[in-house]
Amino acid sequence: QVTDTLAKEGRSSPSYDWFQTDSIVTIVIYTKQKDINLDSVIVDHQDDSFRAETLIKDYSYIIHIELSHEIEEDFSVRVVENVGKIEIVLKKKESTSWKHLGHPLENHNSLIPKKDTGLYYRKCRLISKEGVTHDTKLFCLMLPPSTHLQVPVGQHVYLKLTITGTEIVKPYTPVSDSLPSEFKEPVLLNNKYIFFLIKIYPAGLFTPELDQLQIGDFVSVSNPEGNFKISQFQELEDLFLLAAGTGFTPMVKILNFALTNIPSLRKVKLMFFNKTEDDIIWRSQLEKLAFKDKRFDVEFVLSAPTSEWNGKRGHISPALLSEFLKRSSDNSKVLICICGPTPFTEQGIRLLHDRNFSKEEIHSFTA
Ligand code: FAD
Ligand code: NAD
Repeated sequence: QVTDTLAKEGRSSPSYDWFQTDSIVTIVIYTKQKDINLDSVIVDHQDDSFRAETLIKDYSYIIHIELSHEIEEDFSVRVVENVGKIEIVLKKKESTSWKHLGHPLENHNSLIPKKDTGLYYRKCRLISKEGVTHDTKLFCLMLPPSTHLQVPVGQHVYLKLTITGTEIVKPYTPVSDSLPSEFKEPVLLNNKYIFFLIKIYPAGLFTPELDQLQIGDFVSVSNPEGNFKISQFQELEDLFLLAAGTGFTPMVKILNFALTNIPSLRKVKLMFFNKTEDDIIWRSQLEKLAFKDKRFDVEFVLSAPTSEWNGKRGHISPALLSEFLKRSSDNSKVLICICGPTPFTEQGIRLLHDRNFSKEEIHSFTA
């Protein structure tokens, strides 16, 4: 049935092949798609299972096998974009000739709707934990060497911990380790590290446990999810970001990506809603970025400020938005991203519709 759907869309089903030399085994996935990149494939080798999940539109093509021989822990993944070919190069532990690749496991060599694949997890090590505000911390997790996974801009993952015998799962949005700044060279992180800004709620179920973890402890991290598409940036001229509290997290990669990769971009504005000054995440980094990059402006709005606060106050409102949503030109192509507590996001979307922004011009981040 899936193959039928693909055929109707004029596409043929993906396939795979493998070949070997004395020292390596190469698995080749022919996606038969052109828009494939290193974000499109997630590879894990855990225990006896080798699994590669390739995302093709709303489907996953899965290779899942118990390999016939042992391999080294690390492997490499290459993508030949123009022909949609993915090569996974495995290093043999012993230089014997393999008669077959291995035994098929669940869903091997099948194309299934992404929503039916289930969440797949791997254990990641806590590398560092650094205070950012009084209640929010920057966590750095390291993927195992036997995993290839890149979280696309605008997507989230699930973190899983076993708490008093029960598995608890919550979604979190990976961030860059910092905002681009003239004072800091981007560090080559080799895609092995994932950073999270996480607020610890003392009465919460998950975050106090996460906060208790020691450096070197493990947390399970799922495959990425989410419906934000980089194509929403195409030809974009004005990018407006409305964030409340930790709803700032999806905006981090969006900001970094847009400012470095979208030549058409003229203006990026962030309106950042918090309760108090102490709650503002990365305030000085944001101010530095606004100083350095004239395309970027940031405005802080506080709902419970002290009497000394000279800036904007209150919750999201028609008055705040009418001043904020000034386009660089009348018919500029705009995108508005919004994320925060559910009532904030719902109210924001209503106000944006009232101002005649279309569905395509608004992206809301929700569960
Ligand atoms: P919870 O147990 O959910 O409690 C949260 C707060 O609500 C606590 O103060 C608790 O006392 C209170 N509370 C709980 N139940 C009730 C109740 N019945 N009545 C009144 N109050 C109650 N968070 C981040 O910090 N960073 C991120 O990057 C991030 N990304 C997200 C991405 C997505 C797609 C979504 C949907 C959420 C994201 N979140 C993020 C939020 C995160 O998933 C959790 O909801 C958050 O960490 C709280 O989890 P918790 O189990 O610690 O707290
Ligand atoms: P918070 O309680 O510190 O509030 C931050 C600001 O949100 C407030 O100052 C206020 O301006 C606004 N706000 C709060 N309640 C409001 C209401 N009822 N109506 C209008 N505005 C309101 O926020 P927090 O504790 O940092 O929570 C952040 C929220 O963002 C969480 O609910 C989290 O689940 C959500 N979040 C969602 C995603 C996602 O869906 N992708 C990602 C990250 C965070």
